[in-house]
Amino acid sequence: MDVLKTDNNIKMISFEKAYETVMASARATGTETVSYRGSLGRILAQDIRSDMDMPPFNKSTVDGFACIKSDIGSELEIIETIAAGKSPGKIVSEGRCSRIMTGAPLPDGADTVVMVEDSLILPSGKVKFTAPFSKSNISVRGEDIRKDDIVLKAGKLITPQDIAVLASVGCTEIPVSIFPKTGVISSGDELVEPDQKPELSQIRNSNAYQLLAQVQRSGGTGKYYGIAPDDPSATLAIIEKAVSECDIILITGGVSMGDFDFIPSVLEQAGVKILFSRVNVQPGKPTTFGVHPECLVFGLPGNPVSSFIQFELLIRPLIYKMMGKNWKPLTADLPMHESYKRRSSDRMGLIPVIITAERTVLPVEYHGSAHINSMSGADGIISIPQGKHELNKGEIVSVRQI
Ligand code: AMP
Ligand code: MG
Repeated sequence: MDVLKTDNNIKMISFEKAYETVMASARATGTETVSYRGSLGRILAQDIRSDMDMPPFNKSTVDGFACIKSDIGSELEIIETIAAGKSPGKIVSEGRCSRIMTGAPLPDGADTVVMVEDSLILPSGKVKFTAPFSKSNISVRGEDIRKDDIVLKAGKLITPQDIAVLASVGCTEIPVSIFPKTGVISSGDELVEPDQKPELSQIRNSNAYQLLAQVQRSGGTGKYYGIAPDDPSATLAIIEKAVSECDIILITGGVSMGDFDFIPSVLEQAGVKILFSRVNVQPGKPTTFGVHPECLVFGLPGNPVSSFIQFELLIRPLIYKMMGKNWKPLTADLPMHESYKRRSSDRMGLIPVIITAERTVLPVEYHGSAHINSMSGADGIISIPQGKHELNKGEIVSVRQI
């Protein structure tokens, strides 16, 4: 097969432009209905409204005595006990009160609940309060949520707290976005699978499993297509299969300048239009992105650190966008622990960092983009703009959580 490398056809762009290009290519994945119990980590596809007021009735927020506020200085007769889940049977009037439990409906006539801690039962059986009025301890019907209020917005990533909200409003079947079918392909003759002992000149395939885990952390399950050998025809066959099955394809390796780095040209053979094949970042320069009518394709650098970082920066936001979520990573502005210098500043730098116990930012020991366990200790990534050589000790940087 006649496959030409794209060396003389390289499209280098800034990271900002790459991000814009990727995000502008997002295609909506559609929706499906799932049980609220199985919806953790999914993206809500529709606003959810409450089917009732919350709380649904005026209720006591403490264990105590429901009475009339102006009666607090008097000894009061106790007329009934209202447990949570029971309705009051009697009306509170002057000189009388009802014992009430947290969460129980407030009886008619009462406007205050005095905490049991501030009460004393007298030998007569009456109750006297030992503290002046401080607050009414009543949660008023509808004060949290009104019937038909939106309680969760479309595009929300569903958390355990949201599942409590869904349960409270009785929303047991919910529309969520379909996770994009994401395929992962490794490429390179030097690779063996992790359960194999590499021969001299071989290394274990770590990228595919790191990427599959990153896909999983974004809320879905990726499909693994194995290791494509450094052979264009065999690689084309794997890519064509993935193209027919996936919304997003992630290929690692084979996008650099080596003699066997022919992924971009094979992608073109498979009908993929390459939108960029170099990004002005360090690490991750050979990151390649293309579009096919059926799917979006990334060629990621073979180095595990580069591949990890480019997934976080470009692919995770894309996956969320395809599901209707405008995802932003958690960031924290913190001071540098010590000064940091880099040799070359011709690209935007991405530096894995740890956040120390003193809440300062320390770049991790990192010997180039293949230093795989450097990422295990990292809490986040900082970026250093193109043209900037140094970060000073104490300089505030934005740490992006990874
Ligand atoms: P490449 O992008 O193919 O030039 O690969 C760059 C570097 O990453 C080489 O040292 C490869 O051996 C290494 N590499 C490529 N693919 C993987 C992978 N799946 N897992 C771990 N390392 C890889
Ligand atoms: Mg290779």
